[in-house]
Amino acid sequence: MKYVVVSGGVISGIGKGVLASSTGLLFKTLGLRVTSIKIDPYMNIDAGTMSPLEHGECFVLNDGGEVDLDLGNYERYLNITLTRNHNITTGKIYSHVIEKERKGDYLGKTVQVVPHITNAIQDWIERVAKIPVDASGEEPEVCIIELGGTVGDIESAPFVEALRQFQFRVGTDNFALIHVSLVPVIHGEQKTKPTQAAIKDLRSLGLTPDMIACRCSKELEGATIEKIGMFCHVGREQVIAVHDVNSTYHVPLLLKEQKMMKYLSRKLNLNDVITNPKNVERGDRLMTKWRNITTAHDQSHETVTIALVGKYTNLKDSYLSVIKALEHSSMRCHRKLRIEWVESSNLEEGAREENLANYHQAWHSVCQAHGILVPGGFGTRGTEGMIAAAKYARENKIPYLGVCLGLQIAVIEFVRNVVGIPESTSMEFDSKANEDTASVVYMPDVDQVNLGGTMRLGIHSTKFVANSEWSKLRKLYGGEEEVWERHRHRYEVNPKLIKDIEAKGLKFIGRDESGQRMEIFELPDHPFYVATQYHPEYVSKVLDPSRPFLGLVAAAAGTLDAVIEHNDLKMKAEF
Ligand code: GLN
Repeated sequence: MKYVVVSGGVISGIGKGVLASSTGLLFKTLGLRVTSIKIDPYMNIDAGTMSPLEHGECFVLNDGGEVDLDLGNYERYLNITLTRNHNITTGKIYSHVIEKERKGDYLGKTVQVVPHITNAIQDWIERVAKIPVDASGEEPEVCIIELGGTVGDIESAPFVEALRQFQFRVGTDNFALIHVSLVPVIHGEQKTKPTQAAIKDLRSLGLTPDMIACRCSKELEGATIEKIGMFCHVGREQVIAVHDVNSTYHVPLLLKEQKMMKYLSRKLNLNDVITNPKNVERGDRLMTKWRNITTAHDQSHETVTIALVGKYTNLKDSYLSVIKALEHSSMRCHRKLRIEWVESSNLEEGAREENLANYHQAWHSVCQAHGILVPGGFGTRGTEGMIAAAKYARENKIPYLGVCLGLQIAVIEFVRNVVGIPESTSMEFDSKANEDTASVVYMPDVDQVNLGGTMRLGIHSTKFVANSEWSKLRKLYGGEEEVWERHRHRYEVNPKLIKDIEAKGLKFIGRDESGQRMEIFELPDHPFYVATQYHPEYVSKVLDPSRPFLGLVAAAAGTLDAVIEHNDLKMKAEF
């Protein structure tokens, strides 16, 4: 197993995740099986209870793990399926060690950060790296480990020390380190001091960079690269310039251009590992596909505009997988994507009194868009605005996709305005609402006391009901009878109202295995009015876009029929 650690210096949020995923992709294009581990040095056990506004989206895995959004990047770039154990947090390591201590596993010993915590980290990495994550079902050959935060933080110190020891445990020719740094441009001059300081910090902790990836708003000048090499004590070929590019899909191409793999192959003796010519060929094909789709997208001119009506719009990362699913879909439809960010509370009547300009601007964005998306969310704030947007889309025949909360929102709107129960709401917004007329109710099997990891989570099956062949979404899924998608919710459509809702025309064409839980609705006689209780965005891939998102974008672009007819929707991406 070859381990490649990606760490960061200077500041957080400089794109370590994209760099780590892109590096993983390049290993894959050499024909290797790649896995990845994300280390988050915070005390939380997982990302499930963290605010999306503070930490970005909570990503959900097949096994129901609620994890850091970077695991989504890995799954998307590397076409792999990870488990909750691929996300290591301080909380997980400490509770593991404390549990062992209580069992008496360390009897007689004082339990300490070094060696007990640091050993537990190393054991965990070695154990999880071996888990098969792709269709081959075989053990991976390369493991990318991204260390969250910046080196030098108090929180990350035990992990840095564990990785220092780990390079000797696995052997230095099985271990490489890429340090991501920042080169700010001040008055037009590219400054290398922060990078020099970051590398000095890294070395003082016993880690040596094999590559220094320099993030910069502009292309790095030759002189800057020379200077970094010289003062950070590395060869020129070990300095990689990662300037801002059109899209993150260009980053693997940028790294390849700079021959990043040449150095890493030498350092890690990859020639000894890459032995199967068939895999090498497959890797080549992957690179070609990646390049083609990236350049084709650069050349598309027409734009499709989607209004994203949500409540966490101040931090775009809160909707990272949603944005990616929209991007993948617009690439397939040969359109440039424009997202109109609409803070849903600005659509409400209250906003009209408070801030008329915001109110008009928000409605202007909604009315201008070719399609409307209401993504997942929690709590009451802004939900009346979402309901108003769903009503607008339904009445004006604007393509609409509701995801999770977005489904519940559209059902409330329909029950209020079409079924005729104006007071209907969700028990999430009003826990005292009448259980007979509430559109959305608590699921009976969900824990109401403990909030961590207790929702209906992870992959579950959705079956299309009989006589649903007319459904556009079902056609987009290639006419399948059953689809498997990821979930994260506590509430569901009130089973008591299904009959009345369907009688008025909104059809629940996808249900869980028991037939009791509503998973998909679709409105016939509408260009595209669809919602899912699951989150289809979590499994969207560049070469295999999520079908509900593809439906929304294609309908918005006016090409839905063509997409359904001409695209080989059963095609699964090969890579
Ligand atoms: N808050 C809603 C629920 O718990 C929707 C969740 C979501 O959108 N992920 O059911």
